Amino acid sequence: MARSYVHEARRRVGPRRARIGLIVERLAREHPDARIALRSRSPLELLVAVMLSAQTTDVNVNRVTERLFAKYRRPEDYLAVPPEELQRDIFATGFYRQKAKSLRGTMSMLIEEFGGEVPRRVAELVRLPGVARKTANVVAAELGDAQGIVVDTHVRRLSQRLGLTRHDDPVKIERDLQRLVPRGEWGRFPHLLIWHGRRVCLARAPRCTVCIVNDLCPASRVDVTPAIRPTSGASA
Ligand code: SF4
Repeated sequence: MARSYVHEARRRVGPRRARIGLIVERLAREHPDARIALRSRSPLELLVAVMLSAQTTDVNVNRVTERLFAKYRRPEDYLAVPPEELQRDIFATGFYRQKAKSLRGTMSMLIEEFGGEVPRRVAELVRLPGVARKTANVVAAELGDAQGIVVDTHVRRLSQRLGLTRHDDPVKIERDLQRLVPRGEWGRFPHLLIWHGRRVCLARAPRCTVCIVNDLCPASRVDVTPAIRPTSGASA
C-alpha cells in the first residue's frame, strides 16, 4: 500500500487515543459473548487447557480435556502415571511429547514451590516449564487479574489494521496496547479483537462493509464518514 495512502487513511480516522474508547465500546456491543472458548472449572484446569492450546484449536482442546480432567484432578495425578500414558491422553492436541514434558515439569513446580496451587502473578506463571508470556497473560486474565494484554494472531492483525500499533513483534504490540487500552479492559480487549477477527475482520477477506468500526479503521475498504474528526498535528 502506498505510503501517502496509509498516511491519508490515518489522518482520516484521527488519533488512536481518540478512537480507542469507541472501538472498545462498539466491539463490546457487537460481541457480548466474547470470552475464552477453552473449558475449565478450576485454575489448574485453566492452566492445562491453555498450555495444550498451543498450535491447535480450542475445539480440539475441549474434546481432549473433557476426558483428561476427569482422570487428572490434582497436580500429583499428572506425575503418578508414566510419561507415555500422559502423552497418549493428550495426543490429539499435537506436539504431545513436548506438551507432556511441560505439563509434568509444571506440576512438579506447582507442588514444590506453590503448594499445589496455580500462582496468579504473570512473573511467577512464566517460571513454570512451557509457560510463555502469552499463556501466563491468558491465565492471569481469566483468574481476574490481567497484568498484560494477550497478543495472538488475531490481536496482532486487528491492532495493525485498526492503526493501534505499527509493530509486528508481539512484545512491542503488547506495549503499545498497554499504553492505549484502559487497564480495566486488558482482560476483555483481546477477546473482543479475537472474536471480531473470527467473525468480521477475516485474515484474507475482511468484511469491511458490515464492520461496526469501519469509520474508525484506517484499513477500511469502504468509504465512510469518520466518527472522529482529525485534529491538526495529532499523531495516529
Ligand atoms: S473496517 Fe475492515 S479492516 Fe478495519 S477492522 Fe473492520 S473489517 Fe477489519
